[in-house]
Amino acid sequence: MAKWGMVIDLEKCVGCQACTVACGMENNRLPGENWQDVIFFTEGTYPSAQLKWFPRPCQHCENPSCMAVCPTGATYKTEDGVVLVDWDKCIGCKYCMVACPYGVRFYTDEKPLVAPDMRKVHEGKESHSWNPPWKMPDAREDWKHGVGIQPHDVVSKCTFCYHRISKAPKGTPDLDPQDPKLREFTPACVVTCAPGARFFGDLSNPESNVSRMIGDKRGVRLLDQLGNKPQVYYLTGDGGAVPSSRAINKKV
Ligand code: SF4
Ligand code: SF4
Repeated sequence: MAKWGMVIDLEKCVGCQACTVACGMENNRLPGENWQDVIFFTEGTYPSAQLKWFPRPCQHCENPSCMAVCPTGATYKTEDGVVLVDWDKCIGCKYCMVACPYGVRFYTDEKPLVAPDMRKVHEGKESHSWNPPWKMPDAREDWKHGVGIQPHDVVSKCTFCYHRISKAPKGTPDLDPQDPKLREFTPACVVTCAPGARFFGDLSNPESNVSRMIGDKRGVRLLDQLGNKPQVYYLTGDGGAVPSSRAINKKV
């Protein structure tokens, strides 16, 4: 069984946020509720301050603190290593939002992060908290995997595009969007990344490209000291942008 993970090369990432837009389109996100975000920050002080950026999806932790606190079992881990939210079981208590050290979860019924409030523009019908002006294919509505148009009073987050990756041929080491046979199974953010800064594959396969890159290029994980063991790795190179206080394998 695969253990899916992502590698993001910070030396290649140009901060264009195409990944964020692609994720929003693929997963029907409201403006401002970005399952995949690019966070901008400065390091250093004037006159040598530098603007940097940092792409941040759910880290799909091997040891997810969000799952540990969920009282209903709504947050769960699939056999292939993906952390999901079953919207049929979620009671909206938000324990998981507090427990996640990476701030990647969203609850719909809070004030809009971006005006206008799209929930007012496209009001929801029945159990949906909002309806986009296009029809969602039935095949994309899968509340057990937290996929589709978010219903009322539940928490959501990045699914690694589980509706795509779970249909990939078994035993595939890497979901390479350059391969026409694999492109439709690859997460939308990886497909759309123009500089090719994102890679997706099987962390349990030592021959996969992602495993090799993590080993060869000393991939680091965010806040690794907390013990969540993220399955998203960052390659920092010499000019990478992982904030120095967050990287575990600091350059010597
Ligand atoms: S990043 Fe947060 S929401 Fe995602 S698996 Fe880890 S603890 Fe859970
Ligand atoms: S908000 Fe939902 S997913 Fe989060 S801890 Fe509560 S029941 Fe679980």
